[in-house]
Amino acid sequence: MRAMKVYLETFGCQMNQLDSELVRGQLAALGYTFTTDAGEADVVLYNTCSVREQAENKVLSRVGLIAQRKREGSQVILGLLGCLAEREGARLLTRYPQIDLLCGPGELDRLPMLIDNAMRTGAVEAADRVALAGNRSRRSATLSAAADNLELLDLSRSFDPDLGPDGGPRRSAYVRITRGCNKFCTYCVVPFTRGAEIHRPPDTIVDECRRLADHGVIEITLLGQTVNHYRYTHGVAIGPQGREAPQVGPGAAAFRPGSRAGDGRRVTTFADLLGRIHEAVPQVRRLRFVTSYPRDFGDDILQVMRDCPRICRYLHVPAQSGSDRVLRLMNRGYTRNEYLDFIDRARGFLPDVSIAGDLIVGFPTETDHDFEQTRSLMKRVRCKNNFIFKYSPRPGTSAWGRLPDDVPDTVKRERINELLALQAGISEAVHAEQVGRVVEVFVEGASPKARAASRGGGGVELGWERQPERLQMSGRTAGDLITVFDLPPGELARQAQGRILPVRVTGAGTLVLYGRLEAPTRSPAEHGALSARAAGITQFEMSESADFGS
Ligand code: SAM
Ligand code: SF4
Repeated sequence: MRAMKVYLETFGCQMNQLDSELVRGQLAALGYTFTTDAGEADVVLYNTCSVREQAENKVLSRVGLIAQRKREGSQVILGLLGCLAEREGARLLTRYPQIDLLCGPGELDRLPMLIDNAMRTGAVEAADRVALAGNRSRRSATLSAAADNLELLDLSRSFDPDLGPDGGPRRSAYVRITRGCNKFCTYCVVPFTRGAEIHRPPDTIVDECRRLADHGVIEITLLGQTVNHYRYTHGVAIGPQGREAPQVGPGAAAFRPGSRAGDGRRVTTFADLLGRIHEAVPQVRRLRFVTSYPRDFGDDILQVMRDCPRICRYLHVPAQSGSDRVLRLMNRGYTRNEYLDFIDRARGFLPDVSIAGDLIVGFPTETDHDFEQTRSLMKRVRCKNNFIFKYSPRPGTSAWGRLPDDVPDTVKRERINELLALQAGISEAVHAEQVGRVVEVFVEGASPKARAASRGGGGVELGWERQPERLQMSGRTAGDLITVFDLPPGELARQAQGRILPVRVTGAGTLVLYGRLEAPTRSPAEHGALSARAAGITQFEMSESADFGS
């Protein structure tokens, strides 16, 4: 039988990207193949995001296109995965009859069964087409079973180091440490779509990092909605074969002074976990984590970051607003001053720490004064970048029912533009501080600009062979600053991908650093340990004949 072709498109956050990778591995193991052309796929899957209405609308317009295809007689199977499926539930099947299956983010282990049902039986009963956690996602009695099945999906992860998203090698991977969220910020759907906060056992996390490193991964990003709230109490949850199982998080209460979290049992905190991974998997040259919660981020974590050279000095720690009144309405659980104290403490331990954030404008009742507070917070913190969003009311959240969306869209738009302009100036200044330095860049591949130029020139996806004379490569510093530099195209550029190379910063823009690959120097102290591979690349650049091995 011909292998079924799957088109899988991912919307939204890193958590979704990891989920898609797991789905991909799971389906590939069952004999499905993948295509980048939705038009030739037998199965089209959209892994959806529900955090803002705009993200949902994007997916739903794709869904509309499939309806057209089906009307023309196509037998394609359409599945919606992820947060939109979970949030909207089975009513999507009525509103969009072209959807064949729905699978929430907590049920992805059941996806092959749903596809099978749709293919073999043309399943018509909702029960055969839908796998959603529904209310169950927040009822602790059933958490364990669901989490165990999901855990198996993470554990069975297959990782092909030679097949990155653009066909090149990949040396960077995400590892989930926590699922779900218990914080219930009033604007946010995540606690409803991804369920309660569940922590994976540290041994499992370390094993996964080790296996990835054995496959050549040198950069790992630990994922969780509030990573610093990671806390695993040993000896409580035991799964099959006597292994420790995922366990429900203790929530913010465990971090209050005097809390008896752990009750005398051994506990692995987030700081412990970072230290363990750093120690146990030295091949990982960059260990990062997102997202940090501005409260309960202890000095113990900052100390581990300071003392472990392979942990990146990078924090993504969203403030959301600079106004205490709005923070209270958002149920964020910290004040402006507490946020600023944390930033000062982080910079005290790690003077070169690179900080990114998220901000929301136009939250219900936000006044000019509140907005001014956010502006002043931005100027004080000087994040290297901020993801800035217009408030988007989300059904099911507590703000939806309680707080009318009363800031007019024109005002939201003015405010977001103002913050974007302010951030552009700050980002440029933060970048300018790097000019003249040598930074270590994890090379991700040809830059988006080079890719776009290649597509515009020939109408075809970038092929390593058909290149201009210089190819703009793009990567990130340990502090997550995007850096571009040129290489001669072809084999050399291909080999640079997935490596960490020294780049001399020659210029700074709003979004990127510009640089050139640093030549080998007689004084390695100038930029720390210059890797032999980088030396090889630079030689190649000069002589056009290098071979820098693996
Ligand atoms: N867990 C992270 C935290 O607490 O900072 C954030 C996760 S959330 C998926 C990513 C970002 O989306 C948030 O930091 C927030 O800025 C934004 N966001 C979430 N809900 C939103 C909403 N209803 N409207 C606008 N932005 C929203
Ligand atoms: Fe959403 Fe708040 Fe949880 Fe972040 S901490 S995922 S913003 S509820």
